[in-house]
Amino acid sequence: MNVQTQIEATARGATEHFDVLIAGAGISGVGAAYHLATQCPGTTFVALEAQKTFGGTWTTHRYPGIRSDSDLHTFGYRFKPWTSAPIASAPEILKYMGDVIEENNLAPHIRYQHTITSAKWSSEENLWTIEATRTDTGEKLRFTTSFFWMCQGYYRHTEGYTPEWKDMAKFKGPIVHPQKWPEDLDYRNKRVIVIGSGATAATLIPAMAKDCAHVTMLQRSPTYFRTGRNAIEIAEELRKLQVDETWIHEITRRKILFEQDAFTKKTFAEPEAAKKDLLSAVEAYLGKDYDIATHFTPKYRPWRQRIAFIPDGDLFQGIKSGKASVVTDEIDRFTEKGILLKSGKELEADIIVTATGFNLCANGDIEFEVDGKPLDFADTVTYRGMMFTGVPNLVWVFGYFRASWTLRVDLVADFVCRLLQHMKETGVKKVTPQLRPEDHNMPLLPWIDPENFNPGYMMRGMNLLPKRGDKPEWQHNQDYWAEKDEFPAIDLKDKAFVYG
Ligand SMILES: Cc1cc2nc3c(=O)[nH]c(=O)nc-3n(C[C@H](O)[C@H](O)[C@H](O)COP(=O)(O)OP(=O)(O)OC[C@H]3O[C@@H](n4cnc5c(N)ncnc54)[C@H](O)[C@@H]3O)c2cc1C
Repeated sequence: MNVQTQIEATARGATEHFDVLIAGAGISGVGAAYHLATQCPGTTFVALEAQKTFGGTWTTHRYPGIRSDSDLHTFGYRFKPWTSAPIASAPEILKYMGDVIEENNLAPHIRYQHTITSAKWSSEENLWTIEATRTDTGEKLRFTTSFFWMCQGYYRHTEGYTPEWKDMAKFKGPIVHPQKWPEDLDYRNKRVIVIGSGATAATLIPAMAKDCAHVTMLQRSPTYFRTGRNAIEIAEELRKLQVDETWIHEITRRKILFEQDAFTKKTFAEPEAAKKDLLSAVEAYLGKDYDIATHFTPKYRPWRQRIAFIPDGDLFQGIKSGKASVVTDEIDRFTEKGILLKSGKELEADIIVTATGFNLCANGDIEFEVDGKPLDFADTVTYRGMMFTGVPNLVWVFGYFRASWTLRVDLVADFVCRLLQHMKETGVKKVTPQLRPEDHNMPLLPWIDPENFNPGYMMRGMNLLPKRGDKPEWQHNQDYWAEKDEFPAIDLKDKAFVYG
């Protein structure tokens, strides 16, 4: 059935079948579609996306200054060169993804405004039945697929996380979460408090500082930042030499990844030295008299939480100029005029922004069933952070924290395409990860070790995530540098894969 006939079939209310169904058209879903089209020609597939357009995170987040906090040579796909400054705005990322869709004729495979509501596996038919609702018409649609590729991200798109503080309702001005930025929010010449000090706050503050009267970053505890020029020397040099962009992309990626690996290792082997590197870069912007110990020296080891890159030190320049400031304190309660801190000081504001993170959502709010039984992913053990014990023909893309997410989109896609090819060649219809006899006494642990990585949204939502074992096969080890070699070497005949 061609794409047009399929669309007509949907209009008639028929169930459509695709070999592969992708949930979401963010950077993961579009990457999955590209790899299927190029590595598995002849495979029918569709991506169902709840939003009106592609882009995921980069289209749903509309706050001032929205940009990446990792470089686009590695946040971009391995197959499509990134040719501009490494830290990119959301519109630049969307343009890049749009080009990937156009250049590879992926548009006919993506259906927008389709929210997947349920996914039910039947071992009798070896099929997932996927139900979706059109957000424009309310129409209920049904699809079947042999393989479900979950690219729906890791947080709830409908609502961000805002803690409940006392007397929030008393505050007279707007309280805004960056995930739901009101288009008409006028902050010119207003006093703004941004609660939080993660990547979002660090992006918002320099962007708002230009126009508002003053912006205060209110944090309970400090965060590490990296800073430097928004340029990659080797890329600039190679460009001057008129080297082909494909080469520049690959060489620049390798250099960035090499340096990131060295830095990550340093944070484990010599945490104090790594800390010193990070803090001296901040001091270079703010000067020796600034209280870096209070406002920019976290208590945790570097890399236990994500380290945002601050291009050209713009956050620190905002602070230096006096348009932005940092307060490290705890909130006692909201007042009519602003926020009363535990220290007794009151911060006044016209607008309060809660850059307090998001809600982890492992299943895209999709109701799952396997052979008539409700599926709770928390009851499963993950196979390399992408498949789950007892769940047939399903892969989830969950990227890296210490490296760009998209590196894993490409790696997982290579694996899926190889797996699909293997299943085709061997004539099997079903693959289910299962603990091997030698894994049965393996301790089952939370998805990630908090000693290793412990941002708030992970700690709040860990109970929703699958379990991990203590062997490389049974965990998402967050180590791109190991996985880039391990993934291509995965033995598809391993007993961890049960075929049927
Ligand atoms: C503000 C912000 C900045 C970030 N910056 C970086 C960065 O610089 N570097 C980095 O590595 N990571 C970054 N991240 C993490 C980032 O989310 C990922 O890197 C990446 O964009 C995730 O892509 P994705 O396609 O997997 O998921 P998403 O971008 O979340 O896209 C998932 C898509 O699936 C759709 N969807 C979800 N559920 C359903 C459903 N039931 N039915 C149909 N469609 C559904 C959603 O509408 C969405 O469009 C950032 C995150 C945020 C929030």
